[in-house]
Amino acid sequence: MILEALVVWLVCAFAAALIASAKGRSSCGFAFLAFILGPLGLIVAALASPDQEELTRRSLRNGTLRKCPRCAEAIKREALACRFCGCDMALFHEERTWLERVADRLAGI
Ligand SMILES: [Zn+2]
Repeated sequence: MILEALVVWLVCAFAAALIASAKGRSSCGFAFLAFILGPLGLIVAALASPDQEELTRRSLRNGTLRKCPRCAEAIKREALACRFCGCDMALFHEERTWLERVADRLAGI
């Protein structure tokens, strides 16, 4: 009986860690909380609000987002214009060579 309860508590801790990690929260902290509280800790992890700043930092690190060179806000990597300041991101696209960017500027694009 004690062994089964320990397995349930460990599963709750592991699930809470996964949920917290997906929300940008401390996976170790929520795993510890769920290990102490059991299923209640799992519910707390499920109801916790996502840490948007951490999720943005992760997206910047993995390349899903990039910073606008003008306003420094995080925008999608594929965006052609910044949604915050309207900066033309085509001029800063990494796939474009320096010569292509200069040619576009001279052509008035
Ligand atoms: Zn911008």
